[in-house]
Amino acid sequence: MKRKTFVLTVVVVLLLSSISSLEAYDVCRTSGGAVIKWFTNNATFYVNTSGGPSGALTATQNAMQTWTNAPANFSFSYGGTTTSTAHGIYDLTNIIGFGSLPVGTVGQNAFWYYSNGQLIDSDIRLNTYYSWATNGAAGSFDVETVALHELGHSLCLSDLYSAADSAKVMYGYVSTGQLKRSLHLDDIDGIAFIYGPSGCTYFITPINANFSASGGVGSVAVTAGAGCEWTAVSNNAWITVTGGSSGSGNGTVTYSVSANTGGLRTGTVTIAGQTFTVTQEAR
Ligand SMILES: [Zn+2]
Repeated sequence: MKRKTFVLTVVVVLLLSSISSLEAYDVCRTSGGAVIKWFTNNATFYVNTSGGPSGALTATQNAMQTWTNAPANFSFSYGGTTTSTAHGIYDLTNIIGFGSLPVGTVGQNAFWYYSNGQLIDSDIRLNTYYSWATNGAAGSFDVETVALHELGHSLCLSDLYSAADSAKVMYGYVSTGQLKRSLHLDDIDGIAFIYGPSGCTYFITPINANFSASGGVGSVAVTAGAGCEWTAVSNNAWITVTGGSSGSGNGTVTYSVSANTGGLRTGTVTIAGQTFTVTQEAR
């Protein structure tokens, strides 16, 4: 089967001169040897599906989720769609889109970083010279497969070119019709090496609260390890998270409870993956 080469285009990175076939994974480094990485444990990407096939948005979101689900202390967030076609532009906005690239390049990741290794901007482009699909159609490249690979560069894992690496997402070649939508153990080891393994534990205090019918405000303390990300989301319209809707490490969530015009009610707020329960008396 004909193969097309991915080219990792580097805006400010020198390509590695030697890649051992024995390496399980490879990471980007500065000329001084520092690992290039986000200095937070999350990166938000915007998607421009213009020029892409039906289902391209879901496919890119799936690719982000696959890396997020890996047992490592890093997550991608979907920020929404964008009409921007900026690629390799230093605008501090990470964009996945479709556009023109040199023939032979299926996808390209252009990223910027500081000399200390801090990754600050990463843009992914899929080459519209080629046909794209989201259903594994023969003759087309699979959006999710290529997005998953290019997002690996956004982490900043590097290409692997040994035949022994062919089952890995970070293998630098892809074929039309090929589906590779899940991570190899070595891909997982790579993200865990860069960002640390998962293993964040979260505690919330208190775990419940009672309010009179008139409602009121309250707060919940979150205890989490440094760099461990969390969110707070109300599951009921009458409970509003007013502060600390997201955080990293220790933090505080504040919320308000509306007046109750009906009977006794119980609602919840999901905080750092834990359930905080609010009970409110009847009117
Ligand atoms: Zn690549």
